[in-house]
Amino acid sequence: MKVVNLMERVVEAALEQQWKHLRMPCDCEICKNDVLALTLNALPTRYVSNDRGRMIVQARMMDEQYQADVLREMSLASEVVAKKPSHTIENS
Ligand SMILES: [Zn+2]
Repeated sequence: MKVVNLMERVVEAALEQQWKHLRMPCDCEICKNDVLALTLNALPTRYVSNDRGRMIVQARMMDEQYQADVLREMSLASEVVAKKPSHTIENS
């Protein structure tokens, strides 16, 4: 079975765009993935079959529909990770 969580694609894309604006104390991959995971846990999953053409169209539609939710949850997630990173930050 090949299914994809569309929400994951949408959040990943949004995170790439927003990451620099989130003003994180640490911008390593671990923190980025933590924000991604926390954001995704707070949002509904949207599984679709892995058909590339359809996926792109649906991801775009979903992006518009959920943009406010995605950005809100991402900003909450970034605050959590910024306050309590899952690894020790050196020179801080
Ligand atoms: Zn980090």
